[in-house]
Amino acid sequence: MAHKRQIDRLPIPPKDAKVHNVTCHYCIVGCGYKAYTWDRNKQGTATDNALGIDLSEQQGADGTWLKPSNYNIVKQDGKDVHLAIYADQDCVVNSGLASVRGARMAENRPSEVTGTQQQRLTDPLVWKYGTWVPTSWDDAQDLVAQVTARVIKEGSEDDLVVSMFDHGGSAGGYENTWGTGKLYFQSMNIKHCRIHNRPAYNSEVHSSRDMGVDELNYGYKDYQVTDTIVMWGTNPLECQTNVFLNHMKPGMQNGAKFILVDPRRTVTLNAAEDIAGAEYTLHLAINEGTDMALANAIMTIIVDNGWTDDAYVANNTFQGGIAVEQDAAHPAALGSLDEAMKSIRISAEQAAEICGVSADDIRKAASWIAEPNGGTRAKCIIGYEKGVIWGNDNYRTVGSLVNIGLATGNIGQEGGGVCRMGGHQEGYFRPPEPFVGRPPHLH
Ligand code: SF4
Repeated sequence: MAHKRQIDRLPIPPKDAKVHNVTCHYCIVGCGYKAYTWDRNKQGTATDNALGIDLSEQQGADGTWLKPSNYNIVKQDGKDVHLAIYADQDCVVNSGLASVRGARMAENRPSEVTGTQQQRLTDPLVWKYGTWVPTSWDDAQDLVAQVTARVIKEGSEDDLVVSMFDHGGSAGGYENTWGTGKLYFQSMNIKHCRIHNRPAYNSEVHSSRDMGVDELNYGYKDYQVTDTIVMWGTNPLECQTNVFLNHMKPGMQNGAKFILVDPRRTVTLNAAEDIAGAEYTLHLAINEGTDMALANAIMTIIVDNGWTDDAYVANNTFQGGIAVEQDAAHPAALGSLDEAMKSIRISAEQAAEICGVSADDIRKAASWIAEPNGGTRAKCIIGYEKGVIWGNDNYRTVGSLVNIGLATGNIGQEGGGVCRMGGHQEGYFRPPEPFVGRPPHLH
């Protein structure tokens, strides 16, 4: 095998290589990997190695043999060491599966030896004389402190607007978010800040939280026992690869039907047709931005057919009128199922005209999602992501999906869920900041 960086053979991790459990940092799935590091002047042998396998034998395509993308030479404790990162066969999330992102974690580390990621920043940059100039950390911190102090002295802390780190990448979620929180919230009482990918310090799915439903409310295993998987504005084979391959695929093999709501045909749809069969796969190729009409039509069909889970609704949802009036922070009122139906009712025919899909397909989707099977609740998972979240009218559209989950008893019960499909999997925490108002959320 010729390695693309002119290394014609890859070293074998020796038995005494250091091993760490790591979580892939690229997407929300959170796949498990093993990272091995060892001295540059050592390696194992075909039969005596850290992997405990006989490399003189032909290995399976999905085996733990080292691929070029799994390998690099990186600095550890000031020393250059070999690094090999393999998908963990024992991790229940991915069961040894990698993806085009996770499988490249090793070769995507900065390395002075192999020359990878040399464009990564190593020094702070200051904008001077019309260009970015590298400087020392002392100099950069002094500059930030002096400018910050001058803004406050000449005005107040309210004159500061901070664009800051929040959760995310490469295991920085805890330490970095704690650090920015301690500085800007606890020490300085900053009122104006934005994070990450958005203009404010807010959730991407406020309405789900406002409805009392955390947006990550299932376990991956639920896919394997559900009756219907709905992917709404998301493309999981490409974007959450191992949730699709390791959990949705077995679910479909166990008999789950698959609905994709997306204006485009995607590889996810193609794979679902292949796994579940075309007759158990439904593509609702809606006009862009018409998601809420489709969701409300499905909800209307469910309610009118009596496919709601009445005991669940009675025991778990607000009863009697409006709980929270519509206002600037809540662009839809929050209340009971009956109250919701007063404002969201729309027929399949009306929705078909708006959404550009047939009324029969809308009815079929509603039946797959909610029609009880021999008196038992239809189990359904609805996963949604940027096609909904970054569309217009995010608040009401996300709420319209959560409505379906609540009405059918598919939140907090086996085989159910209304979850977003994206974001980051790392935990993170900030010191309390009561003056900020609505709390930060995972996105
Ligand atoms: S699906 Fe791919 S990118 Fe996402 S966590 Fe797993 S390996 Fe990483």
